[in-house]
Amino acid sequence: MGNLLEIKNLSIEYVTDERTNKAVNNLNLKIREGETLGFVGETGAGKTTTALGIMRLVPNPPGRIVSGEIYFEGENLLEKTEKEMREIRGNKISMIFQDPMTSLNPIMTVGEQIEEVIKLHEDLPKDELRKRAEAMLETVGIRKERFDNYPHEFSGGMKQRVVIAMGLACNPKLIIADEPTTALDVTIQAQVLELMKELKIKFNTSMLLITHDLGVVAETCDYVAIMYAGSVVEYGNVERIYNNPLHPYTIGLFNSIPSLDEDKDKLDVIPGSPPDPSNLPTGCKFHPRCINCMEICKKRVPEPIEVEEGHFVSCLLYDKGIKEGK
Ligand code: SF4
Repeated sequence: MGNLLEIKNLSIEYVTDERTNKAVNNLNLKIREGETLGFVGETGAGKTTTALGIMRLVPNPPGRIVSGEIYFEGENLLEKTEKEMREIRGNKISMIFQDPMTSLNPIMTVGEQIEEVIKLHEDLPKDELRKRAEAMLETVGIRKERFDNYPHEFSGGMKQRVVIAMGLACNPKLIIADEPTTALDVTIQAQVLELMKELKIKFNTSMLLITHDLGVVAETCDYVAIMYAGSVVEYGNVERIYNNPLHPYTIGLFNSIPSLDEDKDKLDVIPGSPPDPSNLPTGCKFHPRCINCMEICKKRVPEPIEVEEGHFVSCLLYDKGIKEGK
């Protein structure tokens, strides 16, 4: 499978008079065709900013892409004109947000809103357009008779289904789903995730799934990238990382999940809090919170090391040179 998306050394910051927040720092990431990549990290880790960077929707000002390359189907999106990007958004890459009301217009019917997405990229006769929109509604489990209903006539889960229908309406190659189920009740979350999994296969789409929930990743993803302070600290196949997490931050995330098998009074939490993006620590950005921190971690920025095939970790504990005292 070839790479559909490849991000190289991407850095994004938000600049105000008082401060510069380094939201994304030298980030590297790839998604192959047909693959679902889970993008995991605490709030403020830079996950959503990365997604907005891919869509070239970082609000400017105060945001700006400082450096890097974002290759999609082999072409650097950062070199595209705004007109070219409008052709790509919704058509080749679409985005699903956490709160469906961010994407839905309360004064248009849901059917019209799906039609609008299709109309942006295809010139179809009116009756054919309606048929396509009705088919999309049925694909996400909503009867076509509800075409003329308004968003307020739907529950939260049904609204998110409409948003998914809009996201898939032009059969994009890549869907970026930003915490798509976080705003929903737990039982509805499972249904929506199941639907997304089915549709991903049916439409042969790749997916970047942004979440803070490792359970969702285990259920849905093929690969996972763990993000900390704007960089990927561990990346690999879901099974490998779940069976053998290596980065102290990833291990901390797993230890903080409640388990039915263990009888614990308290959950293990990662000490400290995420760093201030306007004043990031030197060396490894995780060092003030790391229980394995060595003196060198305060000075040297860890590079990704391939510890087993396709499993990368950015931590000096796995640096052979340091182990051997070099
Ligand atoms: Fe901890 Fe050092 Fe590894 Fe950073 S590089 S995670 S501080 S051991």
